[in-house]
Amino acid sequence: MVAVVKPTAPTATQWAVEAAGLTRRYGTARALRHLDLTIPWDQRLAILGPNGAGKTTFLRIVATLVRPTAGRIAVGGLELPNQAAAVRRHVGLVAHQTFLYDELTARENLLFYGRLYRVKDPAERANQLLERVGLADRADDRVRTFSRGLQQRLALARAVVHDPPILLLDEPDTGLDVAGLELLARLSVDESGRRRTVLLTTHNLPRAIELSDRLVVLANGAIILDRSATDVDLDTLDRVIRGEKPSAEELPIAQLYMAQRATTADEKWAGHPHPNLLLEGEGISGEVP
Ligand code: ATP
Repeated sequence: MVAVVKPTAPTATQWAVEAAGLTRRYGTARALRHLDLTIPWDQRLAILGPNGAGKTTFLRIVATLVRPTAGRIAVGGLELPNQAAAVRRHVGLVAHQTFLYDELTARENLLFYGRLYRVKDPAERANQLLERVGLADRADDRVRTFSRGLQQRLALARAVVHDPPILLLDEPDTGLDVAGLELLARLSVDESGRRRTVLLTTHNLPRAIELSDRLVVLANGAIILDRSATDVDLDTLDRVIRGEKPSAEELPIAQLYMAQRATTADEKWAGHPHPNLLLEGEGISGEVP
């Protein structure tokens, strides 16, 4: 096993992430509105919600890429923005942007990030990760020659090069094949076999339920639902779809699920009320209650 320089053990706090009154404005638009959210160590949290809900903004704040306009955010007990450099050692980010250098090879990219994070043996770490993500045979090819899925695999390796205890995954399944998705699950465990804390955004509700312990739904920059993943099983949602009126609490998650079903499997609606009809008049607008 390759030794990596681990961040100081984050035992001082029980929370991997603590957000209180977190607000982010872009001009007059508010991407996040007074968000309160605490995420314990080792939890796997899926953040769901419609386009523009604020999911990416939240992950980018945790990743230290965006500063909040107001409110408090601490990662591993370290306050942002003041302790951003230390926070970066605790987190690994997989996002739409790969943060890879096109003109460098896969190996050179991992060496670069390994050195940046002061990994003890960057060359050995790069070899190990290239093997793990199935890119050993493409190690010395330039990234610009990689398909989207291969780039995403390398981005996964890049995100864990410093073995961070917190993994931030912003719609990470983009371009990944089945083996790539399994890889994603395997990288959710650190080098010593310990679960990482995972914050995942996705539009794929079944995958969110499969990969997570807890689901949070955002709409218009605020939390409208916060549930254990085991409480939001697909069978219950199927009952909702068959025509049972969802409870007020279940409405947002039911709406998301149905919207997804409607766009991915229109034919399955034969014999069922169309989701838009089912929800008509229920007052669902994505507005914060
Ligand atoms: P999606 O599901 O489409 O990825 P999201 O939930 O991740 O959406 P965000 O990307 O966090 O949503 O965006 C939240 C709001 O903030 C949106 O209205 C978006 O237009 C706005 N926003 C995000 N980044 C910027 C920016 N750099 N400049 C201006 N507005 C921004």
